[in-house]
Order: sequence, then structure tokens, then C-alpha cells
Amino acid sequence: MKLSEIYKSSVPVLSFEVFPPKPDIPLEKVMNIIGDFKQYSPDFISVTYGAGGSSRGRTVEIATRIRKEYGLESVAHLTCVGQTHEEVDHILEDLRQNGVYNIMALRGDPPRNNPNFDFSRGEFKYASELITYIRKRGNFGIAAAAYTEGHQDCKYIDKDWENLKRKVDCGVDLLITQLFYDNRLFWHFRDTIRKMGVTVPIVPGIMPMFNGRQIRRILSMCGASMPSEILIMLDKYGDSDEDMYRAGVEYAIKQIQELVSEGVDGIHLELMNRPDLARDVLGGLKRLKGES
Ligand SMILES: Cc1cc2nc3c(=O)[nH]c(=O)nc-3n(C[C@H](O)[C@H](O)[C@H](O)COP(=O)(O)OP(=O)(O)OC[C@H]3O[C@@H](n4cnc5c(N)ncnc54)[C@H](O)[C@@H]3O)c2cc1C
Repeated sequence: MKLSEIYKSSVPVLSFEVFPPKPDIPLEKVMNIIGDFKQYSPDFISVTYGAGGSSRGRTVEIATRIRKEYGLESVAHLTCVGQTHEEVDHILEDLRQNGVYNIMALRGDPPRNNPNFDFSRGEFKYASELITYIRKRGNFGIAAAAYTEGHQDCKYIDKDWENLKRKVDCGVDLLITQLFYDNRLFWHFRDTIRKMGVTVPIVPGIMPMFNGRQIRRILSMCGASMPSEILIMLDKYGDSDEDMYRAGVEYAIKQIQELVSEGVDGIHLELMNRPDLARDVLGGLKRLKGES
């Protein structure tokens, strides 16, 4: 089923994100985790694409096996940074032949060993160009990334949201946001881009916190701002993985509960390939709904 149909058939849609294991780790490890995730009946599972296309083959294989072995819908992430049109053609053909018809189309970040990478010299400069290209090449469902606080490369948030609107107009079916921890940022972002004329589903990307090191990494990497409640949590529990895990899970449950009760098109959960997070966060949500 294409993304646009999924969001027409059941709202709020529940989706998960998984990442391919490193090349020296067997694929079965993540396939077993996905098997575990299946019990929560996600509407689809998306598979990330390693920086610079490093996981290309594995992304396609996992997305294919999710459909074939588990009967779940899958979305393959695809970044265009440093890729040629010909390389993208090969990937699209690979996906088509394997029955994967949904793509999360992204620009990608500069390669780690080249932080001053010049995007303007590539065949694709922005995700919008990849989206236009995919639209011309075939009948794929297309998701794209959105940033509740603006993308970090863009100096002005309003400018980033103008770029986002232009990206959606190239043929996007669905927006998934970068992780955030303050729901007020999401409401403001959603209201603003709706007023700008964006009508596609806008889905919050949620990554439950599970230890202090992870929170510090998030702070340094993607620039997502942390509400004071989290900084207090970090101060209080940051030295104990067990306490921080419990506090992080409770925070995620509350955050998702509030988003769902205010009305969202879906929840996209980044569970870091951890069945324990899936069990505790989704189990907690069930408890709140009074289900056994
Ligand atoms: C839900 C989600 C999933 C992700 N999955 C992956 C993954 O699997 N693999 C991976 O490597 N990365 C992933 N990323 C990270 C993403 O690749 C980076 O955030 C990247 O820096 C930007 O990608 P984009 O598709 O948002 O780029 P774009 O939409 O192209 O935007 C990039 C920057 O360019 C600006 N811009 C856009 N169009 C124009 C224009 N016409 N003129 C001037 N400026 C413009 C934007 O404002 C922004 O600052 C993901 C991000 C999200 C939110």
C-alpha cells in the first residue's frame, strides 16, 4: 500500500524506524528485532540509509524482507548527497523489482570525513530535486523530512519552512519530523506550515530517551532544543542508566499521549532497534488506554 493510502485508511498511523546493522553484524539480528516489533501492529516500518549511501544494499534488502517475510508495509530511506542520476535509477529499479513502493527521500548530511562538502557540485543539491526525479521515474509513495525548529543549515526558520513548502509541492505524500521533545514546537510548526498551504499528513518523529549519553549526543548532533524538564531529568538521573531509562520511557509515553489526544496524523517511533523500548513505551500507552 502506498503511503497516501495508509494515511487515508487509519489515523493515527503507527510507524517505526529501524537502521541497518554495521556490515560486520549479521542482518538476521535486525530481522529478529523487526519480528519482535510486528506484535505492535505497525502500519509500516521505515529503514534508514547509512550516511553517504553506506548501507544501500542492506536498506533495500531489509525493506524487501519486511514486506515478504512479515507482511508489513515498508519504506526505504534514500539520500541523494553524492549520488548520480544513474545510481539513483539503479536503486529505484532495485526497489521496484523487490516490490518496495515507498521511499523517504532525503538530501543527507555531508560525509563525516568531509564536513565542508560542497552540495552545489552534486547532481542532486536538495531533497526536492530527488523528489522531482523520483516522481518522474515511477509510481512511488514519497515521504520527506521536516524540522520543527528549522533545519540546522538554514539561518532563518521561516526560510527553511518556505523551502519545505517548495519540497512538498514537488510531490511529497507525507512529512515526518526530526525528533523533538517539546510538543509546543510541533503545534507551532504544524499550524504555520498548514497556513502556508501544506495539506499532506505531518507526522511527529519521536525518539524515546534511554540514557544520558544519548541525550547529550542528540543535543550536540541535531540541535533539537531540550525543555527544562529534560535538563532536570538529566541532572537527576543522568548518572544511572536504569533511572534515566525509566524517566525517558515515562516522558515518551506522556509526550505521545498528549500528541495523540490533541490530534495527529500518526506517530513515527525511532526505537533505536531496541525491543525493550518498544515494549515499555507501547505497553505504557496501552496501560493509559486501559487495555490489558
Ligand atoms: C525523519 C528523518 C529521517 C532521516 N533519515 C535519514 C537517513 O536514513 N539517512 C541519512 O543520511 N539522513 C537521514 N536524515 C537526516 C537528513 O538527511 C539531514 O537532516 C539532511 O541534512 C537534510 O536532509 P533533507 O532531506 O531535510 O534536506 P533538504 O530538504 O534538501 O534541506 C536541506 C537544507 O537545504 C535547504 N534548502 C532546501 N531547498 C533549498 C533551495 N531550493 N534553496 C536553498 N536552500 C534550500 C533547507 O532549508 C535545509 O536547510 C533524516 C532526517 C529526518 C528528519
